Amino acid sequence: MEENYPRTLLEFEERFSTEAGCVDYLQELRWPEGFICPHCAAGDAWRTARGLFNCSQCGVQTSVTAGTLLHRIRKPLRLWFRAMWHITGQKYGANALGLKRVLNLGSYHTAWQWLHKLRRAMVRPGRDRLSGLVEVDETYVGGKKTGKPGRGAAGKALVGIAVEDKGEEGIGRIRLGHLEDASGSSLTPFVQGIAQSDSTIRTDDWAGYSALADSGFGHVVIPSNELKLAHLIAALLKRWLLGTYQGAVRPSHLVYYLDEFTFRFNRRTSASRGKLFYRLVQQAMMVDPAPGYTLKGPAMPFLEGTENLNLDPIDGDYDHNI
Ligand SMILES: [Zn+2]
Repeated sequence: MEENYPRTLLEFEERFSTEAGCVDYLQELRWPEGFICPHCAAGDAWRTARGLFNCSQCGVQTSVTAGTLLHRIRKPLRLWFRAMWHITGQKYGANALGLKRVLNLGSYHTAWQWLHKLRRAMVRPGRDRLSGLVEVDETYVGGKKTGKPGRGAAGKALVGIAVEDKGEEGIGRIRLGHLEDASGSSLTPFVQGIAQSDSTIRTDDWAGYSALADSGFGHVVIPSNELKLAHLIAALLKRWLLGTYQGAVRPSHLVYYLDEFTFRFNRRTSASRGKLFYRLVQQAMMVDPAPGYTLKGPAMPFLEGTENLNLDPIDGDYDHNI
C-alpha cells in the first residue's frame, strides 16, 4: 500500500477535522486489504452514522479501534490524532506538560497517560531483528549515588545497546533493552532478541558476552574504548533523557522511553513528520489495548507553579533518577 499521510499542518487539519475523517484513515491502516469482521471474518460491512462497521454477514457492530491501542478511548479521535501529530512533530520527544497545553487537556495526569499509551505504539509488533555487523554494549543510566564505576554500579538502570554498523553508510538501526544485570544470562538473550542469528556481534571482552559464539553468532572482540557507535548512542540517549524529561523517568517505565528513543532514532533520516505520524497511527492499530490501569500514572501530584514544571513526576525515589 502506498504510504498515505498528511504532508503539512493544513493537510492534517483538513483531513482530520471530523471523526469520520479519522475513522477513514484508521480503517485504511487497520484493514489495508478491506474490512474483516472480527467475529465471523466476513469481508462486508456498512458504516453506521456513529462510524461503526456493521457486518453484513453476522450483523455485529465493530469499532475500528476495538482491540487496538485506541480501544475504548473516551475522548474524540480528533484529539488523539492531534496528540499523535504533536508527538511526531517534536524532534526530541514530547513531554506531558507540552501535550497538556497543546490539547488543552484537563489535567497533567491525563496528558501523562496519553503519552504513555502512545509510547506502546512505538514498537512495531514482530519487527525485524538487526543484521550484519552489530555493535553491542551496555550503559548505566540514572543514579545520583556514585556507584562503583563500570559494570555493577548500584541504584542505576542498565541499558543494553545494539547498533548496526553499516560501514561507510554509517549507523543503521538500533535496539535498546532494559537489562537486569550485565551477566551472560541477561546479555545473551538480549542479543538473541535483537539480532538475527547469522549476525556478527562486536563487543568488548566483558565475560558476559563469552557465550555469544556458542549461540551461533559471529563474535568480534575489540577494546572497550573502540565501541564508538554504542558509545555515541549511549551519549545521545542520556542527553535526550535529560533534555526532554529532565531525567525524571521511573525505572519501571524506562523501557517505554527506550522504545520512544529507538522509534525516533531509527526514523531520524525520514524528512517528513507526516511519515512518522503515519507509522505511529499504523502501529497503534497493530498493538493491544493499554487500559489506564496498566499505565500507572504519576505517583506524585503535579504541582503547578513549582520548579518541577517540566518533570514527569516520579516516586520520590531519587536514586533512580536518570
Ligand atoms: Zn461478522
